[in-house]
Amino acid sequence: MENTINVHSFELGDYKCSVIQDFDQPWTVWELFSNVPKDELEAKLRETGEDPGIRRCGNVLLLQLGTNNILVDAGLPDGNLLQGLEQLGITPRDIDSLVLTHADMDHVGYLDIFDKATVYFPEKAYTMWTTNEDMMIDELARLFQGKAPIEQVKGMEAQRRKFAQEVLPSISARLSRVKEGEAFLNDFTFIESGGHRSDHHALEVRSGDHTLLHVVDTFRLSLQLTKPHLACRFDTYQGLVKAIIPLLAKRAIEKHAIVLGTHITFPGLCQLEEAENGFVMKPLAEVN
Ligand SMILES: [Zn+2]
Repeated sequence: MENTINVHSFELGDYKCSVIQDFDQPWTVWELFSNVPKDELEAKLRETGEDPGIRRCGNVLLLQLGTNNILVDAGLPDGNLLQGLEQLGITPRDIDSLVLTHADMDHVGYLDIFDKATVYFPEKAYTMWTTNEDMMIDELARLFQGKAPIEQVKGMEAQRRKFAQEVLPSISARLSRVKEGEAFLNDFTFIESGGHRSDHHALEVRSGDHTLLHVVDTFRLSLQLTKPHLACRFDTYQGLVKAIIPLLAKRAIEKHAIVLGTHITFPGLCQLEEAENGFVMKPLAEVN
């Protein structure tokens, strides 16, 4: 019998939203923040009460409005996304719009399968990939050079080269480039937040009085929200991430937004509150 994929559905104004758990891997805080001194991490864990044993989840968001199906990011190759969609009665050809936040492997895995979808990609991300290809290929691999097996690093480079040279040109006819801050699909806006990678963007969706702020890969744990803000070792420009975290957190609080993070433990949803030492992630039930 096939396993059931975790899917969490909720409403955002007129939208029916579903978070599909694309993947779930055991991980520890020590591995994720191996660049942070151990005593500093231990102090932060005591502050937030988080467990050092964590899950690395991949959450993919589907929004449905009438007969329109909008998917945010295209999952990890060989992840559970297609099976999760099938559970919701949706085939890849039913996806009308695909919103791409950045081109890391776990966000573009099934891009070619959604071949009926218009692909919304930030203008800045497109420009980076088409004018700075070498830099974009190197951005991820250099984080792992000397720290991961050489084949793994070469695999990352190959995946990113393929995105620049084959995947991006192959979707050019259905690609819609969107400027930061400009509304698209009526209710969607990209927010430039290029710290994790230089093409990385957060996303805001509004429906009536309701706002969802998808922080994508900006943070994944409460301990990253405590001052001084902590960036994880998967972030290429860690100084920028530290500056972006409080900006996004303040924006979420101002708008009373539901916050979604791709790698926050499934279903990846929370609300943020300001605290003496930064911000805290609150489960939605506690805030409502
Ligand atoms: Zn990611």
